[in-house]
Amino acid sequence: MSRYVYDFIDGHKDRKDLLGGKGANLAEMTRMGLPVPPGFTITTDTCREYLATGSMPTGLLAEVEHHLRQLQAAAGRTFGDPADPLLLSVRSGAKFSMPGMMETILDIGLNDTTVAGLARRSGDERFAWDSYRRLIQMFGRTVFGVPGDEFEAPLGAARASAGVVCDAELAAPALRDLVEADKKIFHSFTGRDFPQAPHEQLFLAISAVFRSWNAERAVLYRRQERIPQDLGTAVNVMAMVFGNRGENSGTGVAFTRDPATGRRGVYGDYLPNAQGEDVVAGIRNTVALSELADIDPSSYRQLLAIMQRLEQRYQDLCDIEFTIENGKLWMLQTRVGKRTPAAAFVIAAQLLDEGTITLDEALQRVTGAQLAHLMFPGFDRSAAPAPLATGVPASPGASVGAIVLDSAAAVAATGPVILVRRETDPDDLPGMIAAQGVLTSHGGKTSHAAVVARGMGKTCVCGAEALDIGDDQVTVAGRTLRAGDVISIDGTTGHIYLGAVAVRPSKVVRYFEGELTASGDPLLSAVERLMIHADRTARIEVHANADNGPDARRAARFGATGIGLCRTEHMFLGDRRVLIERLILQQSQEALDALLPLQRADFEQILEAMDGAPVTIRLIDPPLHEFLPAVEDLIANVARAQALGADPGHDGALLTAVRRIHERNPMLGLRGVRLGLVLPGLFAMQVRAVAEAAAARVAAGGDPRPEIMVPLVGAVQELETVRAEAERIVASVPGAPPIRIGTMIEVPRAALTAGQIASAAEFFSFGTNDLTQMTWGFSRDDVEGAFFGRYLELGIFAVSPFETIDRDGVGELVRIAVERGRAARPGLTIGVCGEHGGDPASVRFFADAGLDYVSCSPFRVPVARLEAGRAGL
Ligand code: ADP
Ligand code: MG
Ligand code: MG
Repeated sequence: MSRYVYDFIDGHKDRKDLLGGKGANLAEMTRMGLPVPPGFTITTDTCREYLATGSMPTGLLAEVEHHLRQLQAAAGRTFGDPADPLLLSVRSGAKFSMPGMMETILDIGLNDTTVAGLARRSGDERFAWDSYRRLIQMFGRTVFGVPGDEFEAPLGAARASAGVVCDAELAAPALRDLVEADKKIFHSFTGRDFPQAPHEQLFLAISAVFRSWNAERAVLYRRQERIPQDLGTAVNVMAMVFGNRGENSGTGVAFTRDPATGRRGVYGDYLPNAQGEDVVAGIRNTVALSELADIDPSSYRQLLAIMQRLEQRYQDLCDIEFTIENGKLWMLQTRVGKRTPAAAFVIAAQLLDEGTITLDEALQRVTGAQLAHLMFPGFDRSAAPAPLATGVPASPGASVGAIVLDSAAAVAATGPVILVRRETDPDDLPGMIAAQGVLTSHGGKTSHAAVVARGMGKTCVCGAEALDIGDDQVTVAGRTLRAGDVISIDGTTGHIYLGAVAVRPSKVVRYFEGELTASGDPLLSAVERLMIHADRTARIEVHANADNGPDARRAARFGATGIGLCRTEHMFLGDRRVLIERLILQQSQEALDALLPLQRADFEQILEAMDGAPVTIRLIDPPLHEFLPAVEDLIANVARAQALGADPGHDGALLTAVRRIHERNPMLGLRGVRLGLVLPGLFAMQVRAVAEAAAARVAAGGDPRPEIMVPLVGAVQELETVRAEAERIVASVPGAPPIRIGTMIEVPRAALTAGQIASAAEFFSFGTNDLTQMTWGFSRDDVEGAFFGRYLELGIFAVSPFETIDRDGVGELVRIAVERGRAARPGLTIGVCGEHGGDPASVRFFADAGLDYVSCSPFRVPVARLEAGRAGL
């Protein structure tokens, strides 16, 4: 009975929690009878226990020894056997894939004695010494933290004195000398000799993999990817197989479909005579997987057959790591592969057509975030100059920025930058996060840069070999570029351009706009089919925030079934500002009279664009000072006039007014309903404009459905007062249709007293921006730069609560208000407006909370529709 360790044959693909993704999938492949080297998995529970106590759980070592005996029997070799040593790899593998973030150590079991056994057994001395020096380096780095660069110097010296350019060309004696040099480096950094006992190596390696869960870059990656920090990693111990045993051997990665476009075919990279990480690290340039058909036809055929079986088993795109040792194929890893947003849609539709998955499942396979990504603009290729160079298109997108040549510079930059590197490694992660895009001169679609950029949805062009990337300059096509020079990179074509290339709207946006049809285009037809299904399964509607005719029309084209928020304050800017000034200064009826026809015309346009659908118009909301000049400017103007002996006139009067209404906390001051109650005639004018616009639309044969929404209500009495007057006005406008009157729920007190407020409100709309700011008690305009970075770092929240709804706090107020509001007024319509309405994770929450609709910016409408559909499954 095992507590800590599972043999591969005892695991299962659905046990990722316990075995990690790699372990669960190795188990699955073993159970499928695929050629997986024998091995076992130490569970994530064990890791958590180790990290909590700082020492190996008692009983673990005995269990490992027990499973090691089984492994030896299966492999037909013994760990530490001087004549024919079994070697092991010790691999990290968490529940969620974290490519290259944690440690893996290969060739464990080599020492001064077994290296000779390996050489004799394999008849290849060079290979044995090469494996040993790799072990000392990897072990030194990973287990004892010897800086990786330290081992570079003797390696470079060895290459130089042998007169070769690549490590694979070093002969056995040179490698043996290198082992001696590496052992000295090991000793000088650790104060001890390189451990010779294989079992000690094994246990040290296991604990190092456990600790690598908390490596800085791993913590950062999890924060970025929103992976919980407390899961821990599993450890996979397995027999080594060798891709570095000559031209009959090699190692590679493969995808069952193209992870960039979704197209079916053979995709991957192969590197002959190489081991493990050589491919992923992009250190040497690989050949296309299809070339394996010539290099080793029988392994190639076997690999294709295995890929097909894996797709059937996982019912999805799989990616694979494999190694060929002397013509024998070994599977080292598989998982459901990462893919670009476009590929996600195309593959979901393909699997549907192939009868592999249902329409519901296809909808599960895509996300609102992916759709949002597809709506980003791309380069206008007709306006682009000839490319400077072309690399491998590794992660789509169109990015323009200044060149930075290292991660730190990317982090320090203030404007948009492109991180340009020979290749990236996990230490470049902060720079990759900060940059708009990533460009490398080495490595293919499976290099570190490519994999990580795809995961982050960041533009990446890699393997642009024409680029010669130095420490402080890049030469390409006879030109020299320096840090700060602007370039544009296209992750769909791999093109690299000098200067800023103009961008144009995405294909998907043009499809939603009605400028393109889906037929014949795999991506657009996939989007179309999944959107149709999403609209069918959604239990929550999607409205849009729009305050002018063009936005309202776009919202309708993008599938909004109403306007959830029509802000009226935007209508007071520009030339109309003077009217507002006069209103504030003189409480001028004249100014109100002048504003009335302007507002009426605004509303008519919007009601026309959204004919037959609800249009929720919010009465004026922001603090007064937003309409008046800044106090500093007025003081300066007045002082200047006085200095010249002139009359400060209008500025003087304005200054007096601005001083009078100055507030220390304007966001908590005279705004919303408070302003409406204090400044007579303002709300009345707006209500009249709505009613008259609606009446005009009715007279024109339209079907206007305006609703009036009162902002910032905290007490039912506020709403009752406004409502009584509004109803009187609507009744007095001949031909006006009935107009529903409701309120925003954005002050915590409103949420708590929702039962009372519902008695006066025909609908609620959560203003989650204000509700978040007032619930947390922090100003959304000030906090992001001030302390959110630190809060995210400390894990106080994983994502800004202004971006994704805070389910526990603000979300609880939403649930309370829904419950109390509907209890008081059954059938009460409830929606949400504000940024959260277009955030995929929040849409799901609002759907689950039983809201009738979310409202978001027109561009976000398709994203919200898709998420609403997914939430309805
Ligand atoms: P990562 O999760 O970063 O991909 P892996 O655990 O997959 O790390 O290991 C790193 C590299 O070592 C991979 O390329 C893998 O194929 C190789 N490798 C791991 N175990 C073995 C093994 N038993 N024999 C040969 N190569 C191995
Ligand atoms: Mg791997
Ligand atoms: Mg508000």
